[in-house]
Amino acid sequence: MTGSLQQGVSTSGLPGALSNVVRTKIVATIGPASRDEAAIRGLVEGGVDVFRLNMAHGSIAEHQETLGRIRAVADKVGRQIGVLVDLAGPKIRLGELPGGAVECVEGGEVTFVRGSESDRPDRFVTTYPPLVDELAVGDSVMLADGTISLVVAERAPDEVRCRVVQGGLVRSRQGVNLPGVKLSVAAMSQADWQHAEWAADAEADFVSLSFVRSAVEVNLLKELLRTRGSAARVVAKIEKREALENLDAIIEAADAVMVARGDLGVEIDVASMPMVQKQIIRTCLQFQKPVIVATQMLDSMQHSRRPTRAETTDVANAILDGADACMLSGETAIGEHPRQVVEMMRRIALATEQQYLQSRWQFLEALRGSSRADSAVGEFLPRPEHLVAGLHPITQAVVDGASRIAAVLDARLFVVASKSGVTAIARSKRRGAVPTIGLSDDVHTLRQMALYWGVTPLAAPAGADVNQLLEHVCEWGLRQGRLERGDRILLVAGIGFGTGGHNMALVHEV
Ligand code: PGA
Ligand code: MN
Repeated sequence: MTGSLQQGVSTSGLPGALSNVVRTKIVATIGPASRDEAAIRGLVEGGVDVFRLNMAHGSIAEHQETLGRIRAVADKVGRQIGVLVDLAGPKIRLGELPGGAVECVEGGEVTFVRGSESDRPDRFVTTYPPLVDELAVGDSVMLADGTISLVVAERAPDEVRCRVVQGGLVRSRQGVNLPGVKLSVAAMSQADWQHAEWAADAEADFVSLSFVRSAVEVNLLKELLRTRGSAARVVAKIEKREALENLDAIIEAADAVMVARGDLGVEIDVASMPMVQKQIIRTCLQFQKPVIVATQMLDSMQHSRRPTRAETTDVANAILDGADACMLSGETAIGEHPRQVVEMMRRIALATEQQYLQSRWQFLEALRGSSRADSAVGEFLPRPEHLVAGLHPITQAVVDGASRIAAVLDARLFVVASKSGVTAIARSKRRGAVPTIGLSDDVHTLRQMALYWGVTPLAAPAGADVNQLLEHVCEWGLRQGRLERGDRILLVAGIGFGTGGHNMALVHEV
């Protein structure tokens, strides 16, 4: 450690700004293991920022009840917690199998037929009737999360015969993946429409669409939500080859993105998935869109109290790739240790961020005071290439400049006043070490900011001017132990001369 670094060292061994705040956000899926109020409260206390309601399972009434509990817990605990309603989209599933499960034998044959029921173990029906018409000879079909693979051998008017390339046990209603096959299936089923309308009425903060293929599909859901008066942000789940072909357009259209590795890892070669994850995250940075990395992050903790080494490394690497949030699925929905797994994810995030931010800090510290410092900070921070829709060029410039000022001055907090949350996203995407406070008087914006890396949402009094905002933040910071007298904070806000953007950056000494 250098001498100059030690001057700013706090008890945790890190410079002041690198306090014990976890920047990476945690999304947790609710399920039977976590649905009751005590469990939800445990997860919030453990560090969950956003809950996912998976509409592929359960009834609307059940989800409504869960949503009510989440809001009640958030109120009691006094934290802004987001809710993500996840639409199943065009996921194809097997129908009922005779006896509930069938062994597919390598080298054997199975046949897809029309209808809703099958009476023979080698004849499968699916939830997607046109499948029999749309499969072509040579197409591959994956079952049971990719563990079973079939190849189409022959077509007939009412059936498609497949050879089993890799065998295994398949159960009723398991997913069917068709890597690379372009289906005519609609982006949203009737059930998806119903779920989206409910999400709008229930004031969900995010709605995600599974198996997105194009920007048009993202816009369709946005339109539906808007006409329903919803403020929900749309999350595009990237889990198909077609989505990768249209990645830029989809990410530009979406409000946020999920790297949905569960299906992505079946739809593309699982060996290429790690680099695809990095590509998606990089594109999200260019377009300044929050991105969630999902599925199997701490999978073994469904049963175990400790993660594998590979899993802790996976979480750390997702953070280093630039993920805003990491998601838990089965771990919290049906696992045996929902709270412990959240706490573990939080610990990995903290350890990773502190090391990562500290190495950046040391680099900056070495240059501080030299004429290279300013340009070095600029080089340091990732450079977005596109203005996000709704982000004024003035705001972008002010956020960039203020981010540099905050780093050079070792500010304790970076405060953004944000109506829609877009300014908070711009700041978040800079990956600044100085923790960000997202001030808003809009409840939807506050809950959405719960997803953004490094941003702590804080409710602001409506109609407050700059001085009142400063006073509000300082009072809160002193009360929370996040500020001490003499600390410097940055405030980015708009003062109304009709420029439209956030035209002001202010340095304040508490
Ligand atoms: P799912 O989406 O859990 O709804 O399938 C996430 C994924 O595919 O990874
Ligand atoms: Mn999926």
